[in-house]
Amino acid sequence: MKEYDFDDTIAAIATPYGQGAISIVRLSGKEAFAIVKKIFISEQDFDQAENWKAIFGKIVHGNRMVDEAVVLKYQAPHSYTREDMVEINCHGGIYVTQRILELLLDNGARLAEPGEFTLRAFLNGRIDLSQAEAVADLIQSQTEVSLQSSIRQLQGELSKKINLLRDELMQSCSLLELELDFAEEDVEFVDRKTLIKRIDEIQQEFDQLLSTYQSGRIAREGVKLVISGKPNVGKSSLLNALVNEERAIVTDIPGTTRDALEVKLDIKGVLFRIFDTAGIKDAEDIVEQEGIRRSRKYIEQADIIIHVFDGSQPLTQEDLEIIKFIEEFGDKKILRVINKSDLKQRLKIAEIEHQAIPVVKISALKKRGIKEVEKKLLEIINSMGDLTSTDAMITNFRHFMALKRAVNSLQLARKELLKEVSSEYIALYLRESLDYLGEITGKVTSEDILNNIFSQFCIGK
Ligand code: GDP
Repeated sequence: MKEYDFDDTIAAIATPYGQGAISIVRLSGKEAFAIVKKIFISEQDFDQAENWKAIFGKIVHGNRMVDEAVVLKYQAPHSYTREDMVEINCHGGIYVTQRILELLLDNGARLAEPGEFTLRAFLNGRIDLSQAEAVADLIQSQTEVSLQSSIRQLQGELSKKINLLRDELMQSCSLLELELDFAEEDVEFVDRKTLIKRIDEIQQEFDQLLSTYQSGRIAREGVKLVISGKPNVGKSSLLNALVNEERAIVTDIPGTTRDALEVKLDIKGVLFRIFDTAGIKDAEDIVEQEGIRRSRKYIEQADIIIHVFDGSQPLTQEDLEIIKFIEEFGDKKILRVINKSDLKQRLKIAEIEHQAIPVVKISALKKRGIKEVEKKLLEIINSMGDLTSTDAMITNFRHFMALKRAVNSLQLARKELLKEVSSEYIALYLRESLDYLGEITGKVTSEDILNNIFSQFCIGK
């Protein structure tokens, strides 16, 4: 793990870089109050000030005034980190904010690492690891559905469920371990049949939780949508029509270079990430084969594929090949869109009709039928699970994998049980399963996991 020293008092600018009305500089640790008192003068005595109360005063550097500020005092353990904390609300200038931070550093604070405030909140037991991750999700959420899913996780919905499952497993595991302690007396504290029954019940709960991952992931990350079809059927026109209809989300988070343009849309609170691979073929330096390979990658990963046809033309071999290509990906959710409904229709709908696949007729040019496309998209998503369920949901790949490993160990324990051998291995696998569950909430954790999670936060959070 990164070399954190938790005896240090840490400081950071908590607001984004840039000019604004207000900036916040925060400070956490044993010396937080002492350091602030060196640079802050107010009529109200800082030590006497009540917890959580705002104090108005001046930030000073020796005799020189640097800013007017409102300071909030949070006495441990009633703070975000559970340590003594101070938040300085100063004027939102880049220089003045930086100057105040430097004053804090000169007076004994250390610059915080990314996510270090939240890391302290976790290590001091105010929140567990899945809640810390929910903080990052909440900050990154761009639609109502993702906001609500991160709020539920932050409120501990998932933690409660995981802890409940751990308790159930723990009971069986402790009894078996007790048996081991009395190995020579050959006693059985827990009847094997009852144990198998318990394991099966727990397994069912694991399965139920695992099944929430598809909608949970979509709630957190959005729906991956690909618009496919042969050239000139109106893929780009459909994308533009959707963008005109709904709120396009513009993010300034620098992304990695992508081989497809990603357009984000908020359709009734659900984030749709539309990958436009159409541009791939236009790029001069990319050979066709490479283009196909890349489209395949996007189609493979898509939650929904919209296949666009040109209604003014009869079906061609190329359309049929794309139908086949898409269906190769099995249970992918497909929506067929027949475009150019404003022209004379030559496509026979019967040729592309399929029991399980909805078909919508539109004119991307005249912006007709676009609402119907959106309605169908939402229907497909709703058929995958309840995105707004208030029950515990798995939204995050790390949690999903930990749960899968927990299931695997549970099944190994069950296998051992059927063999009717000594409790040793059974207890071992149950313990392993418990540990994997513990990784989700951070009861069991490694430096790598922590580094990975907290390095993704911004400084000051
Ligand atoms: P793409 O290659 O599949 O992305 O197709 P485009 O969106 O670039 O459209 C190809 C051509 O079809 C353009 O000239 C569009 O103006 C035209 N087009 C797209 N949608 C419609 C439509 O609904 N009606 C008519 N008449 N033309 C359309």
